[in-house]
Amino acid sequence: MAYQTVNPNDGKVLKSFGKLSDPQLEKSLDEAQSCFQSWKHTSYAERAAIVNKAAALMRSHVDDFARLATLEMGKRIDEARGEVKFSVDILAYYAEHAETFLAPTKLHPKVGEAHMESSPFGVLFCVEPWNFPFYQLARVAGPQLMAGNVLVVKHAGCVPQCAIAFEQLWTDAGAPQGAYTNLLISHEQSERIIDDPRIKGVALTGSVAAGKSIAAKAGQNLKKTSMELGGSDAFIVLDDADLEKTIPWVVLGRMYNAGQACCAAKRFIVLDSIADKFLEKFKAALSALKPGDPMDEKTTHVPLSTEAALVQLLKQVEDAVTNGATLVVGGKRIDRPGSFMETTILTDFKPGNPAFRDEFFGPVVLFFRVKDEAAAIALANDSDFGLGGSVFTRDEARGKRVASSIDTGMMFINNIDWSDAELPFGGIKYSGYGRELGNMGIQEFVNKKLVRTAHLDAPA
Ligand code: NAP
Repeated sequence: MAYQTVNPNDGKVLKSFGKLSDPQLEKSLDEAQSCFQSWKHTSYAERAAIVNKAAALMRSHVDDFARLATLEMGKRIDEARGEVKFSVDILAYYAEHAETFLAPTKLHPKVGEAHMESSPFGVLFCVEPWNFPFYQLARVAGPQLMAGNVLVVKHAGCVPQCAIAFEQLWTDAGAPQGAYTNLLISHEQSERIIDDPRIKGVALTGSVAAGKSIAAKAGQNLKKTSMELGGSDAFIVLDDADLEKTIPWVVLGRMYNAGQACCAAKRFIVLDSIADKFLEKFKAALSALKPGDPMDEKTTHVPLSTEAALVQLLKQVEDAVTNGATLVVGGKRIDRPGSFMETTILTDFKPGNPAFRDEFFGPVVLFFRVKDEAAAIALANDSDFGLGGSVFTRDEARGKRVASSIDTGMMFINNIDWSDAELPFGGIKYSGYGRELGNMGIQEFVNKKLVRTAHLDAPA
């Protein structure tokens, strides 16, 4: 993909960037490698000073970063500000806790004494998506720099200015050359980077297709990977749910980031006795959203990130209907400049409709009516994905029981999939493996070394 800023609100091409030449790429990898040789010996306090400085700089320029995200991928400006503030929180969280998370842990062997200690892998290659152009970068940069690793990062083609701004942040924070490097590179160059012996681990957040390709390449090189991929999260509404409280969550769960979140609520599974009322209220709430410029705080319905994303989503809806689904509302592009999609509800999925297994990355609701709790659980689990999910009920114990029965990496009771710096994020099945955030996130790319002391005579 080309590196280009195209405003999805009007389709105007604003800026284009050339890709890195092979010699420039070679120089970047060399700098990263040589930076690691000294960075790995810095103390946690020295690393924290730089990571905290980056957090402080971001905090004092929230609006500048947010406007870049909105310009390049069209998210609502308020959501963009929220994303930047959350990125700050993630950096500060790891600056504060990394030393504790990576402290040696004592073991208790029958003979002698032993402990586990943690040391950084080296240069990591991170491939990141456009949908949260700063948060995704903070999710790797915060923990991995604090762990003593250094990063070379390939961001998505449609957010080059966000990618460059985040690299500049590290320079401004005083990070040494090579600690965090943004690479404007092709997929082919990316493959060569994975082969390169200077690279010691690979982290991807992106689609299943990218995951299969990048994990396969890394596998050939026996390099550790973490994969944060797509999702088709179930939003289960049990018959005792408080609909007045649930509907605002439903709208946020599907429409946050214009529906372009891996962990967005995508399949709405509602118990029969309240299904009609739920659908009526959901439809009404969606129809109240008004399309407009994402830079305008009053706008409630924004464009998709790119024209290509819109074309793909329209085709998915068309295919779903061709294969038997019923279109309740929406299904078309909005008649105005920019890449806007109508809020859309699909229902009546017949067995074998391929759309049933698809990830719909935008404002499209897949609605399912089921007879009881067991059917809701079975349907939620009938997915190739396993990222997150929600259960809404007045009965907390029932919510926990249902949550425990769903095969995903995360479940949320009476709220939506949401990440916090201290909570591990990730999935199973086609949603990938490994975790980001929390204590688990910093453990992904460190060597866990056993050190044992036992003063024994060798057996004769
Ligand atoms: P994508 O096409 O996979 O792109 C993501 C990143 O991977 C981009 O930087 C892209 O670069 C790069 N890429 C794709 N194929 C590649 C290849 N063969 N070699 C090297 N780099 C490659 O994903 P997307 O459709 O833009 O993003 C949305 C997807 O990400 C959704 O499926 C969503 O669910 C998932 N996601 C998951 C999480 C999570 O934490 N689980 C979070 C956010 C998003 P180019 O732009 O240059 O192609």
